Amino acid sequence: MEYINQIEAARKNIITDEMKSCAEAESVSTEKIRLDIMNGWTVITKNRLRDISPLAVGKDLKTKVNANIGSSGDSHSIEEELEKLFTAIKSGADAVMDLSTGGNIIEFRRDILKNSTVPVGTVPLYEAFQPAMENGSPNDANFIDKFDPEYLFEVIERQCEEGVDFITVHCGLTLNAIKTMNMQTRIMGIVSRGGSLIASWMIRKNKENPLYEHYGRLLKIAKKNDVVLSLGDGLRPGCLNDATDRAQITELVTLGELQKKALEEGVQVMIEGPGHVPLNQVEANIKLEKSLCNGAPFYVLGPLVTDIAPGYDHITSAIGGAIAAGAGADFLCYVTPAEHLRLPSVSDVKDGVIASKIAAHAGDIAKGIKGALDLDIEMSKNRRAMDWDKQYECALDPERAKKMRASLPLKDDKVCSMCSSYCSIKLNASFK
Ligand code: SF4
Repeated sequence: MEYINQIEAARKNIITDEMKSCAEAESVSTEKIRLDIMNGWTVITKNRLRDISPLAVGKDLKTKVNANIGSSGDSHSIEEELEKLFTAIKSGADAVMDLSTGGNIIEFRRDILKNSTVPVGTVPLYEAFQPAMENGSPNDANFIDKFDPEYLFEVIERQCEEGVDFITVHCGLTLNAIKTMNMQTRIMGIVSRGGSLIASWMIRKNKENPLYEHYGRLLKIAKKNDVVLSLGDGLRPGCLNDATDRAQITELVTLGELQKKALEEGVQVMIEGPGHVPLNQVEANIKLEKSLCNGAPFYVLGPLVTDIAPGYDHITSAIGGAIAAGAGADFLCYVTPAEHLRLPSVSDVKDGVIASKIAAHAGDIAKGIKGALDLDIEMSKNRRAMDWDKQYECALDPERAKKMRASLPLKDDKVCSMCSSYCSIKLNASFK
């Protein structure tokens, strides 16, 4: 039987197995999932070649969390990246992105795909630029000629054939958007890795972004295996000063146009968003994306609400992530304590995922996702009953909760060492 993808099935009124599975996981009707896929408001991240549970991201669904893993030029141990993968999944990540840029990145990706039980995303520009990077840096004249747009499409096609579930493609970073950026005052310029790579090539060659120019070709490749396009925000703000400026919005307007084109062609799309954003601009950023991009799922990178907390950026991003999720963002990309400092360690990955899970959950309660509050109520009842084992069962990180409580000796195992004999819950129970 000829394969039809999720959007085509939705248009033909067909409920696919993936739609059924996602509806069950989200406790919503299959019809809601079908309609929202048809309208481009929800995507199902699952390459048709992969044998994993499909993940729905979008309208009125639970906010999902992504963890970035992968090597760099300074650190490329596959064993360590696999440990990060397993830690991310165990800590509750709904998806992972392999952002490898060092070592044998093709082998890394294959190993991650083989071992991941959750959807895997990539940024194909990294692999496409590897031959150029190996022959110098973007500042060398050499660099220009070593990047081949044709090779970029080969890489994209290969990654989609290998089973990658979603890809970040910086299609909205056009010459016009760069011109807009250059007409204003940014402190940080372009902070997206993929964005800065393709922009260096475009500026030096004075050529349009091939991902924009040949967007139709990209759509055909993505459609074949139902790979979700995550339209990247190459011009996202890299500091609070640069947030919500004309360059960012120019790119977002283009992404909205490209989302519409993709939907017409039967390709699922999410939109990527900032970045570093002051708290009072987070909600406006979500509303702008929903309005300019026709309600497409919004995948935000943080956002980080201050620039002055290196070492604690899992917290700055969880604050922004909670506001973003509460305002309608659908997918949070985690940030670890190592952000801006080094490649994250295994324990950074865990801290980053848990911080993002807290943000996503807080957002779900705020936006009224059905059942989001259930576990909080359960936890409160268990606290009131001083049932510690059941409290751990409700905790996002049971191991840490258990370890912390046990780290100080207790006179009374009903209470904890915070208030000890002054425990208000125990006192409450005595006059009931
Ligand atoms: S001792 Fe204090 S912190 Fe601990 S359970 Fe009782 S009231 Fe809560």
